[in-house]
Amino acid sequence: MITLSQTDRDYILNTIRDVKDFPKPGIVFKDITTLLNDAKAYNFLMDHLEERYKDYDIDFIAGIESRGFIFGAALAAKINKGFVPIRKPKKLPYTTISEKYSLEYGVDEVEIHIDAFRPAKGEAKVLLIDDLIATGGTATAAVSLINKAGAKCVEACFILNLTTLQGDKEIKEMTSVYSVLEID
Ligand code: AMP
Repeated sequence: MITLSQTDRDYILNTIRDVKDFPKPGIVFKDITTLLNDAKAYNFLMDHLEERYKDYDIDFIAGIESRGFIFGAALAAKINKGFVPIRKPKKLPYTTISEKYSLEYGVDEVEIHIDAFRPAKGEAKVLLIDDLIATGGTATAAVSLINKAGAKCVEACFILNLTTLQGDKEIKEMTSVYSVLEID
């Protein structure tokens, strides 16, 4: 199941719940908890990701806090790779490096442990995972962070891409991008 049919895509997409006006008015929040609590749909999605990435030349999977942990850590265990968390500021206990990025109002930041990819021989190859790409700010900062940590992001994977925001435009200049589902 390396390629999903439209029926497969619709099946997964229909398990994701839209929550209007969360976390603020005007935002339609894509709630993946309804995908996760549907064992058949969650399994189907993880089997697809396993099939796609099991023979990829990667050393680690990095997931973005917090929903990227759910898919990233599950996939890492399935395909026998190390998992690396990319977290919000001041959550990681050891020495970190960080990357700031712009939001609509203000800035945000992501952090990684300085030695996150140290077990690799040479430059580690990393697959980045998050649940969703909207403006692309978070994922672009995460790719820069992986590079700053001395590794190479070989692909960024999202369960859902909100394509009208064209958030994948900048990140495509830095790495390859795969989105399981795309919606306007
Ligand atoms: P962005 O940096 O704008 O691409 O936003 C991506 C991050 O924010 C991801 O970690 C998502 O989990 C979260 N996010 C942004 N917009 C939404 C949305 N409409 N529904 C659910 N999560 C969102």
